[in-house]
Amino acid sequence: MTETKATCCYCGIGCGVLIQSEGQQVLGVRGDPAHPANFGRLCSKGSTLHLSANSLVQQQVRALYPEMRGSRGEPRLRSDWDTVLQHLAGQFARTLRQHGPDSVGFYISGQLLTEDYYVFNKLAKGLIGTNNIDSNSRLCMSSAVAGYKQTLGADAPPACYEDIALAEVIFIVGSNTAYAHPILYRRIEDARLANPNLKVIAVDPRRTDTAREADLHLAIQPGTDVALFNGMLHICLWEELVDGAYIAAHTEGFAELKQTVRDYTPAYVAQTCGITEADLLQAARWFGQSKATLSLYCQGLNQSASGTAKNAALINLHLATHQIGKPGAGPFSLTGQPNAMGGREVGGMANLLSGHRDLANAAHRAEVAALWGVPEVPAAPGKTAVEMFEAVRLGEIKILWIVCTNPAQSLPEQNLIRAALEKAELVIVQEAYASTATVPYADVLLPATTWAEKSGTVTNSERRISRVNAALEQPGECRHDWEIATAFARKLEALLEKPATLFPYDTPEQVWNEHRASTRGRDLDITGLSYAILENQGPQQWPYPEGAAGGKQRLYEDGVFATANGRARFVNTAYQPVKDAVDARYPFALNTGRLRDQWHGMSRSGTVPQLFAHVAEPAIAMARSDMERRFLNSGDLVHVTSRRGSQILPVQESDEQRAGQVFIPMHWGEEFLSGRGHGGQASYGVNTLTSPALDPSSRQPELKAAAVKILKAELPWRFLAFGWVPQEQAWRLQQALRPLLREFAYASCTPFGREKTGILLRAADDYAAAPELLQKIETLFGIHGAEVLRYDDARRGNARHILVKNGALAAVSLAGDISAESWLKAYLLEQEPVAKLGRLLLMPSTSAPQGFKPRGKVVCSCLNVADTEIKATLAKLDGSADQLLAGLQTRLKCGTNCGSCVPEIKKMILFRDGVPA
Ligand code: SF4
Repeated sequence: MTETKATCCYCGIGCGVLIQSEGQQVLGVRGDPAHPANFGRLCSKGSTLHLSANSLVQQQVRALYPEMRGSRGEPRLRSDWDTVLQHLAGQFARTLRQHGPDSVGFYISGQLLTEDYYVFNKLAKGLIGTNNIDSNSRLCMSSAVAGYKQTLGADAPPACYEDIALAEVIFIVGSNTAYAHPILYRRIEDARLANPNLKVIAVDPRRTDTAREADLHLAIQPGTDVALFNGMLHICLWEELVDGAYIAAHTEGFAELKQTVRDYTPAYVAQTCGITEADLLQAARWFGQSKATLSLYCQGLNQSASGTAKNAALINLHLATHQIGKPGAGPFSLTGQPNAMGGREVGGMANLLSGHRDLANAAHRAEVAALWGVPEVPAAPGKTAVEMFEAVRLGEIKILWIVCTNPAQSLPEQNLIRAALEKAELVIVQEAYASTATVPYADVLLPATTWAEKSGTVTNSERRISRVNAALEQPGECRHDWEIATAFARKLEALLEKPATLFPYDTPEQVWNEHRASTRGRDLDITGLSYAILENQGPQQWPYPEGAAGGKQRLYEDGVFATANGRARFVNTAYQPVKDAVDARYPFALNTGRLRDQWHGMSRSGTVPQLFAHVAEPAIAMARSDMERRFLNSGDLVHVTSRRGSQILPVQESDEQRAGQVFIPMHWGEEFLSGRGHGGQASYGVNTLTSPALDPSSRQPELKAAAVKILKAELPWRFLAFGWVPQEQAWRLQQALRPLLREFAYASCTPFGREKTGILLRAADDYAAAPELLQKIETLFGIHGAEVLRYDDARRGNARHILVKNGALAAVSLAGDISAESWLKAYLLEQEPVAKLGRLLLMPSTSAPQGFKPRGKVVCSCLNVADTEIKATLAKLDGSADQLLAGLQTRLKCGTNCGSCVPEIKKMILFRDGVPA
């Protein structure tokens, strides 16, 4: 077995991993003890990466060969690289001649390595001459970029992970860090243990695990962050907590801002944000009085039509109180994706250029043109993510090349996104996974390598660049993303009769060296770095200019900022209510966000059944008071309807939600959640509902605030099929079931299991489905033939069909009355012998067999510990909260591996008597 150094491909914390492999098999993964992001730790997602690389799974979900189709409606057929790339170069050359360079667009990804990003950016801006290249990082970080640039002058997070241990106050805003960045959250837990005086303030409309564990939770109304930050600054001014000398020496624009925040009185802010004045005062005092305040923030600030203002208002607060440029302090934006930072560094977006240069700056364009050896870089800004799809829908962009991202899952207002994908003259999808919702729209599918197969670099949230090494050979005919772009570019150069000079790369290191040269003299200067240094001395932070002994841990310690005059700029921010506001017709504010164990559209994490143990199926979370008023019970189906579309979902009572607010995890797209749709419009999961309202500066859409109405879905007929499936067939089964889900008003399909793989399909409708459809589904689950035990009551529309193998349940289908679901599922999961149940197996009774106790929800997915086991053990323990946690960890081992479940276990301890503390 060999161990290969790489990084986790999920979030922007950028944990180092050691991939354990033998030949073409990944056998395991462990945290890299030498990596400064995680020092060996991994969360529930990172520690199961090897399961996602399982070859039995990979051979079912991967795109392995180039494919293309003659015309729309025809199936794609296997082809070869030369034919496909020649065909694409010809199509591009024709379209460019007829319609100009802006008739094509590239939609790329924060999952790409820096080298991939660099080549695509150069292809679009240097060879083709269009700035129509944008990234899914637009959905994630562009407000953070705009906020940093407007205030500090450069897109550079000034703090580092070590600052968590040095802070006196940690201000977490719009981030459920415990779920979204678990390894960083472990550092916060460590810091609290080391310093009992450390104060943690969490600002979040939801009472998430992160918020509940904070010393102070400000459950603000969605979108009121700017009012909060301006209000805190108002108090800091009033109580003389601002640093006048620092403001005078190192900033500009404070006088104007001071005028604005004068109006943000505690009474006004408390009312606007829906919090108490006392909590507001406490937050401002802790923030301003502390020797070191560190803000950690993420999509709650960024995914907003006023995301840039939210970022800037928070940075204003740091500048005014001098909570920046010193140990333990600073505004620290946490990156969502693993290499959103690298993409920003190479300028792989519609408004950026290589080396943190600006497209709008003529001198910057000239510098990049000179670096690349092209006459010019086009000046007109390109289309950003949502705008690019709108331009496709309007016929302005004719060819769309999508790389390593799944817009048919992740972009808002899916009905329009799908219309754009239908309208495009040519859709190219460059992907590792053939299973995403976007792939069916591909006229050309280009198979790409993925985690464990790629070599290059990534940059994490704290500006730290890591080398990523390949542990496996490229499977099938997959190619690296930078290689595909390079091969295509060379063919296009020939057809456009341009000199073949722009893409001389044979290795990722050659690409990276060119990127490095483009950073000379810039804020992110890495001219002192090399692949060799990264390999021999480990990951390094930028800037790291030529001659430096190392990277810079913390920025702006000298009070000199990356602006023309070296002064930071206060931005005069005013609060604007959310664009898609609630009203009498759409009375609920819909928020979206992450689950603990899933990642984005789940193309990778969705192939690991174990990661569904924590949250098994889609649902919308709602406050108990709202459910009671609407006579809803957990599990009831509801129509969730926004101004853009509708999606049916089960409702789930949640103590995290305030009245008037609901929450759907961002992960549930068409791949797992489906149905016929409503009012003549199809439903494609959560982003059927979300809003495409854009921030005016960052062009980031408002994914976290959409007005919706919620009505009970009267769908009396229910259907459920679940069973074990051989691992080498499970994902093909799921894909075969996907089109059938559209036959029902509501349907979802998710995997389950641990050592074995199971698939569960749930459906509902207002009438019984056609027997042929149900038979088709049962056949796919293997429920056919003489071995199947059957109960059918055609008059009542009830059926129970059970396949028993080796004395245990192998697969079950229930139609009509599905009330036996919980115990039949438990019997199947536990592989309980069923011979003793006799006729009970088929009796139309709702009661479970005597002595049956449902196992409940798995809390610790690493060690497979369920909530029922934790509650039963807690009942036998006494002591303080810390002692109870230690007792549970000793007896059940829960929370002793990756630690991602510890906040939830603490919540169970807090609620153990049913009364929240
Ligand atoms: Fe991966 Fe978890 Fe580390 Fe993020 S915190 S990089 S998901 S292991």
